[in-house]
Amino acid sequence: PPPRPSLTPGKSVKYNVKHTIMVMSGKGGVGKSTVATNLAVTLAQKAFKVGLLDADINGPDDPKMLGVEEAKAFGNEEGKIEPAKTKYNVDVISMEMALPTHDTPVVWRGAIRHKAVQQFLEDTSWTDKDLLVIDLPPGTGDEPLSICQLIPDADGIVIVITPQEVALLDAKKAINFARKVNMPILGIIENMSGFVCPHCGQETDIFKKGGTEQIAKEYNIPYLGNIPIMPEIVQDSDSGIPAVANNDYIKKFFDVVADNLIK
Ligand code: ADP
Repeated sequence: PPPRPSLTPGKSVKYNVKHTIMVMSGKGGVGKSTVATNLAVTLAQKAFKVGLLDADINGPDDPKMLGVEEAKAFGNEEGKIEPAKTKYNVDVISMEMALPTHDTPVVWRGAIRHKAVQQFLEDTSWTDKDLLVIDLPPGTGDEPLSICQLIPDADGIVIVITPQEVALLDAKKAINFARKVNMPILGIIENMSGFVCPHCGQETDIFKKGGTEQIAKEYNIPYLGNIPIMPEIVQDSDSGIPAVANNDYIKKFFDVVADNLIK
């Protein structure tokens, strides 16, 4: 493996992980889980010991995206929850692993959902991970708020947005949310930004483009770049392969993002 880059020192974490990076979005369906899983895999490719906590209780997709859709959560001899091992060297825990079938909804009120995430944090056998990536529930409501309060010493948040103007409004909300809960914003990513026609090569900005970079400037936060709409991303995640393990373009993108986050 390549030499391990150094992390910013001075973060103490009580959950047996050295650093925590949270991935959030102003709303659902913008690619938050895609970013969280690919970021986790990229960090593992850089020889960090990485855990991924899928805190999106209602849409727990991370195990599927990492090819362990059938994994179940179980307790080990020490009474800890054992995360699923993946072939990408990322250990993952998710509500999906506690549900009887893939189409079972979690019909729980907020307080119980909060308790479940807290348990995943506190009782999972993270075994001295260098980095824990948390895929937050979408939006800026009660759930991401209570998770941020569970980990006040997290390194910070990466915000994922799509470039429609309404989504940009959600992005501003996400930024203001992070500031309100005193979470450093490590950077923002524009996802689904433009589409290159595979037949003629022409680029179409389906959801516009570039608004995120402007917001980053306006709010003085790091802009981590944009990911175009790529049908390969859907195909890969549907077949349980993180795009970074299958696609050079995406791998390069996340390499730069990860290097930016851990410098
Ligand atoms: P969220 O976690 O915000 O709900 P997901 O990461 O689950 O969003 O993404 C929603 C869907 O969009 C998934 O099917 C995913 O594969 C797909 N997707 C995400 N990013 C892209 C992209 N850049 N190009 C094409 N499809 C994408």
